[in-house]
Amino acid sequence: MSYVDEVLAKVQAKNAAEPEFLQAVEEVLESIRPVVDANEELYRKEAILERITEPDRQFKFRVSWVDDQGQVQVNTGYRVQFNNAIGPYKGGLRLHPSVYLGIIKFLGFEQIFKNSLTGLPIGGGKGGSDFDPKGKSDREVMAFCQSFMTELSKYIGADVDVPAGDIGTGAREIGYMFGQYKRITGLYEGVLTGKGLSYGGSLARTEATGYGLIYMTEELLKSHGQDMAGKTCVVSGSGNVAIYAIQKAQQLGAKVVTCSDSTGWVYDPEGIDVALLKEVKEVKRARLTEYAAARPSAQYHEGRGVWTIKCDVALPCATQNELLLDDVKTLVANGVTAVCEGANMPTTLDATKYLQENGVLFIPGKAANAGGVATSALEMSQNSERLSWTFEEVDSKLQQIMVNIYHNIDDAAKRYGKEGDYVAGANIAGFEKVVDAMLAQGVC
Ligand code: NDP
Repeated sequence: MSYVDEVLAKVQAKNAAEPEFLQAVEEVLESIRPVVDANEELYRKEAILERITEPDRQFKFRVSWVDDQGQVQVNTGYRVQFNNAIGPYKGGLRLHPSVYLGIIKFLGFEQIFKNSLTGLPIGGGKGGSDFDPKGKSDREVMAFCQSFMTELSKYIGADVDVPAGDIGTGAREIGYMFGQYKRITGLYEGVLTGKGLSYGGSLARTEATGYGLIYMTEELLKSHGQDMAGKTCVVSGSGNVAIYAIQKAQQLGAKVVTCSDSTGWVYDPEGIDVALLKEVKEVKRARLTEYAAARPSAQYHEGRGVWTIKCDVALPCATQNELLLDDVKTLVANGVTAVCEGANMPTTLDATKYLQENGVLFIPGKAANAGGVATSALEMSQNSERLSWTFEEVDSKLQQIMVNIYHNIDDAAKRYGKEGDYVAGANIAGFEKVVDAMLAQGVC
């Protein structure tokens, strides 16, 4: 049995109840197979694959807090520190009822390779809780965040592990968590990214993941003799990543005609009105029905359906496993040119395969959405320097990073005879740097 198959079998047996983690490991290990095969003896002896698929450590803890009725509520908190071969652990905190250890492990594992691709010195980690901020008052969110950070603060630090936002964790939650970290430790340090501008945040961090996704999509299209101008795009989600992807795509001359949330979706043939979407989602924290109510050209539909709309470019920006085989069959039948993932692992393995087999340009999330964590690393640099860079400085560094990532993954795919397979390219390029650092640092 090959070393890859041996380790895949071990990981499957050991983590059988964590399908999302297994899906992520399978995708990565399958696509780095040529690199592993070329170094099989060394990697086997050094147990590289066993080490890279086993988190350095994982924390699971109780989060007790009091709701507005005086009732004590209990949630579970997690932090998985996956791999710090190339820098301090770095990865967001997801607050969503679906969170359990398997989701955090899949995200932490993906983060190792994504962070490596940015070219910046950051390792992989992830955390979160099954707490749902939806429908909670600001006081309840603060109570949760303070309790969560009371425990999390024992494991993190500016040079140790630097969490950030993710689904359900935006500027409000990061602010409450930063306040509690400072209160407990007495340290004013860059322990979290995605902070507000008045207390150490970076300009352009809010926009970074969505903007970065579009910078990469533009570079991909340019490399194939096209560009975003005049393209029709469909986007899923209406959170941080989706909103700024829509904004940048429109700035580059594309027309974005959909967005969605967890209850329904909007088709707006005149193009999504970003200012209205921001008002509904960022200010009012309301449902998309409010967008449709305020916009005569928009149609609101319950359930899922953005992928049924004919488009040139599809950008899944909501959550994992939201783009399924039947969806991509529709996209391909409708003539889609490119699919670039804003979310983490939104496309199932069979759907990814179908897109690639049908000649659709496909960039996986670990490359396409790396602009968020890259800009978080730029926030860390600014915090260490005690300086703030201008929006233009950060944005132009972000743009350069996304262009570099595209060419690195393109080159890596070509080096292993897999031209155009950006999944393989991203996994190989991300893996090569991490494995090099692991080997140099000995058995640890
Ligand atoms: P937000 O919480 O801001 O937005 C998430 C969006 O997706 C919302 O519109 C939400 O709908 C929808 N959504 C969430 N869960 C589901 C679900 N189970 N089914 C359908 N829709 C769902 O999160 P972000 O925009 O920050 O994150 C989106 C994705 O991008 C995630 O996969 C995240 O891991 C990834 N990502 C985010 C980065 C960042 O910088 N924020 C960086 C890199 C990746 P509703 O409003 O109804 O909840």
